[in-house]
Amino acid sequence: MQTKLLRPSEDATALEQAGALLRAGEVVGIPTETVYGLAANALDPMAVARIFEAKGRPQDNPLIVHIADLESVKDIATEFPPEAQALADAFWPGPLTIILPKQDRIPMVTSGGLNTVGIRFPSHPMAQAIIRAAGVPLAAPSANTSGRPSTTTAQHVMEDLNGKIAAVVDGGPCSVGVESTVVSLCGERPRLLRPGGISLEQLEQVLGTVEVDRALREKIDDTEKVSAPGMKYRHYAPKAPVTVVFGTPEASANYIYAQLGENSGVLCFDDCAPRFAGAAVVETFGPSDDAAEQAREIFDALRRFDTTDCTEIYAQCPPADGIGLAVSNRIRKAAGFHVIDLTEDNT
Ligand code: AMP
Ligand code: MG
Repeated sequence: MQTKLLRPSEDATALEQAGALLRAGEVVGIPTETVYGLAANALDPMAVARIFEAKGRPQDNPLIVHIADLESVKDIATEFPPEAQALADAFWPGPLTIILPKQDRIPMVTSGGLNTVGIRFPSHPMAQAIIRAAGVPLAAPSANTSGRPSTTTAQHVMEDLNGKIAAVVDGGPCSVGVESTVVSLCGERPRLLRPGGISLEQLEQVLGTVEVDRALREKIDDTEKVSAPGMKYRHYAPKAPVTVVFGTPEASANYIYAQLGENSGVLCFDDCAPRFAGAAVVETFGPSDDAAEQAREIFDALRRFDTTDCTEIYAQCPPADGIGLAVSNRIRKAAGFHVIDLTEDNT
């Protein structure tokens, strides 16, 4: 299959073309404010099956359903509790996915076999225009090959999926850079299943206390049942194994410097790069004091390692607050939670 690169900046019909392909049951890479999405008609099991096939995604990993107006929720979820309304008022359109009980018209293949559904109303104007042009809610996971770092440019999507999908819409680089925050309202209390563009602190301002799922902090065994099945799979990983070194920028830089071998790569903050002048491969992902910029750069930085010959990667990591929680989660997952914590008291 020839993958078309559609450019709305040069072609006034690009978004309409994307909508027509989606209506016809095709899969299209689309820009959103978080990462690029791999979209198909959420109501069409055949179209959704093509997303899983193109990504090589495990069948039990549910997709997020994207809408372009609040009224659409009533066609997707069986209920919209006051907490959901409060979250929608505060954060939609935007990088937040809300898990609610699903209606029967959402096929099981879309929800990964669950009777719940993740819903998001993205703020990216092109994403909204494509959903409206398609005339149906769009199921879309991140537009990467399963297991690889997510994609934040149309070029990234082409790297992974050229020849496997009908088209990619080029909307430039994503402004948030990490995926949406996923919060479940299906249990007794609101529960954070994935940190993302909306911080835990922001959620708690609206909802009060939010439980944090264990899978955010530790590795989950493949056989375990988890609330967000995507959490158990290897994710975001470059080819070389990653070790996270957690501590102050200075402490982690010193520790990493002492470990470096001939083929070691370093993923570090911009301001720490001079410390690694002699290292084989050094990739930076933003200033140590700017987690929002780290979020925009992290996936591109992780992807760059795959064009190098390094055989191991040492990574710095920001503190887990604000959007730093999402950045830290993505780096820890890229490392399979292989973390050296220099802040632990070993005395
Ligand atoms: P991706 O956008 O590729 O990161 O994939 C969507 C992610 O959203 C999944 O891996 C889950 O973590 C989460 N998700 C989507 N729908 C549900 C659901 N019904 N229940 C729990 N988590 C969900
Ligand atoms: Mg993904």
